Amino acid sequence: MNKIIYLDNASTTKVDEEVMKTYERVSLSYFGNASSIHRLGIEANDLLEKARAQILSLLKLERSHEVIFTSGATEANNLALKGYMHQYKNRGNHLIVSSIEHPSLIEAAKSLEKEGFEVTYLPVDNHGVININVLKQSIKKETILVSIMSVNNETGSIQPIEEIASLLKEYSKIMFHTDAVQAIGKIEKSYDDIDMVTLTSHKIHGLKGVGALIKRKNITFDPILSGGGQENGLRSGTNDVANIVSFSKALRLSLAKLPSTIKHVKELYNRLMDYFKSNPEMYILNSFSDNPFILNVSLKEKKAAVVVEGLSKKGIMISSISACHSKSEAYSYVVYEMSKDEKRSRNTLRISLDYHNTMEEIEEFIHELDSLVRGLRQ
Ligand code: PLP
Repeated sequence: MNKIIYLDNASTTKVDEEVMKTYERVSLSYFGNASSIHRLGIEANDLLEKARAQILSLLKLERSHEVIFTSGATEANNLALKGYMHQYKNRGNHLIVSSIEHPSLIEAAKSLEKEGFEVTYLPVDNHGVININVLKQSIKKETILVSIMSVNNETGSIQPIEEIASLLKEYSKIMFHTDAVQAIGKIEKSYDDIDMVTLTSHKIHGLKGVGALIKRKNITFDPILSGGGQENGLRSGTNDVANIVSFSKALRLSLAKLPSTIKHVKELYNRLMDYFKSNPEMYILNSFSDNPFILNVSLKEKKAAVVVEGLSKKGIMISSISACHSKSEAYSYVVYEMSKDEKRSRNTLRISLDYHNTMEEIEEFIHELDSLVRGLRQ
C-alpha cells in the first residue's frame, strides 16, 4: 500500500498493535460464552469482569458507577436517552440536549419527541459552547434528563461539563449524561459528578463494535434489547469478551500516554494554525488551544469535498463534515449552529490529529493542501 497520511482520527483510529494482540489472544484462548457455567465460560467471565473493573478504576469511578457494555457509542447514547426516559417517564417527560450533539444522540432525542416526550435543543455560541444560564432557564418541573457532549466531534469545542454537573446537583430529579467519545484519551476531565457517560473503543485505538454506557449504580433503564439478560438485564446479547478486554487495554494505554500525546499534538496543531491563519482562502472555525486534536476550517470559495478527494488521491485522509454522515448530508448542522452561515457550513474541512502523526506529515499535508487550493483558484 502507498504511504498514507491519516489525519481523520476523530472518525476512527488505527488499532494499536498491543490491543490487537490482546484481541487475538482472548479470541483464541478464551472463546467460551461468558454466561456459560463450565470452565471456559467461567474463565471468559473472569476476564470480562476484570475489564469492567479496570475501566471503572481508570476513570476513578469504581465506587459510584458501573459499566454496561454495548456495541459502541451509538447504542450507548440511545440507551442513555431512550432507556432512561422510558424507565422514568412517571417522573417527568422533558429532556434537554445541545443542538450540536452527535447524530446518534440528536436522532434518539427526535425519536423520543415523536413518542410524545418534550425535548429542548440548547443553542451554542460561535465557539460551540452552551450557555449555562440558558440551560438553567430551560429546566422545568418535568425535566428529568440533560445530555450534553463533552467534546464535539466536528469542531472540537469543549463543553463546561463540570459546571453543568454542579448546576444539576441542585435538582435531585435531573440526571446528567455526557457523550465523552471525543474527550476520553484526549482531554483530562473527571466524570465522578456525572451520572452517565458514553464511551467507544475505536476512537482510542481499540476495535470497532464495542463501547460502554457508564452509569451511577442506582440508575436503571428500560432495556432496548430483550434477550438473555446479560449486563444485569440492561443489554442482552452474548458479551464480546475479546473486544471488551481489548477496549480496557486501549483505554489504559491511551490514558497512560495522555500527557505526552497532548504535548506532541499541540506542536502539530500550532504549525497547522500558523498556516491557516496566514491563508486568506480559509476561515478557522475553531481555535481551541485546550483541544489541539480537532481543527475545523471552512473554505471561502471552494468545495470542501473536492479538496478532500484531491488530498485522498495524494494519500492524505481528512474529513469534510463528519465521516459518519458526510455522504447523506450536504451541510454541517454543527458548523451552522455555531456560525449561522450556510455557505461556511457547506464547506468545512476537519483535520483530526493523533500521537501517530508526525511534523513531516503535517508539512506534506500543508504543501498538498496549498497547491490544491491554489490550483482551484486559477
Ligand atoms: N458520539 C460521538 C461524539 C462520535 O464522534 C461518534 C462517532 O463518530 C459516536 C458518538 C458514535 O460512535 P460509534 O461509532 O461507536 O457508534
